[in-house]
Amino acid sequence: MTLAVLFFIIGAIYGSFLNMLLWRLPRKETIGGRSYCPSCKHRLSPSDLIPIVSYLVLAGRCRYCRARIPIRYLAVELVCALTLSAYALWAGPLSVGVIFGAYIVLTLLGLLFFDLYYMILPDALMVPAIIIIAFYDIFAVPNSLEHFGAALLSALFFGIIYTASKGGWLGLGDVKLVFLIGLLLGYLLTYAAVVLAVWLGAAVGLTMVVSRRATMKNALPFGAFLCLTTLVFFIFRNEFSFPQTLFGW
Ligand SMILES: [Zn+2]
Repeated sequence: MTLAVLFFIIGAIYGSFLNMLLWRLPRKETIGGRSYCPSCKHRLSPSDLIPIVSYLVLAGRCRYCRARIPIRYLAVELVCALTLSAYALWAGPLSVGVIFGAYIVLTLLGLLFFDLYYMILPDALMVPAIIIIAFYDIFAVPNSLEHFGAALLSALFFGIIYTASKGGWLGLGDVKLVFLIGLLLGYLLTYAAVVLAVWLGAAVGLTMVVSRRATMKNALPFGAFLCLTTLVFFIFRNEFSFPQTLFGW
């Protein structure tokens, strides 16, 4: 329980950091330097930067000019905090595996929000994660060969779709992302995560078209759906009763 509280706080701080990156990276601003209000340019004091708490205390407005702070700032912090604490509740006592898992959860959340807001899956998040998961597979996963196979096969499959559609249906980032997911989940859960993401994407896309909030020409952040289903299958992977090793059948 205490781990869940600790992970809630870490998740909230990460969400706040992610908000800063989401704001600065597309504007090519540097990571260093104090945050300021985009509306009145007033520098924010440490008490304005407490994740979740500051937003609620200030009722979603800038302390200095009363400009509205978009609700997505609170949403990103809350989603990160709640997801990481949910992971702690399911993953049990602190161990190397749990620290690895927490890193994975935070990375997937980062990729999810970047794809959702900007349709990009930054290499800065993806490449280190792929390397770390590969090492984790080699040293800590008994059926690591299966995970490497799943990664190569799904990247190959997505790579063919990417090439055939000339990047129209999915991006190169999605190809790298399924490689990461394969390494992380192995064959069966990767398959489940991809299929569920396709259905979820289709359902959301159709709903948006029907409610006239989008047309068939609007692109959907497929990577964000993949990150979402992967998070679910990763956090709850021990809850599934079907065999998790293909060769164990
Ligand atoms: Zn302001």
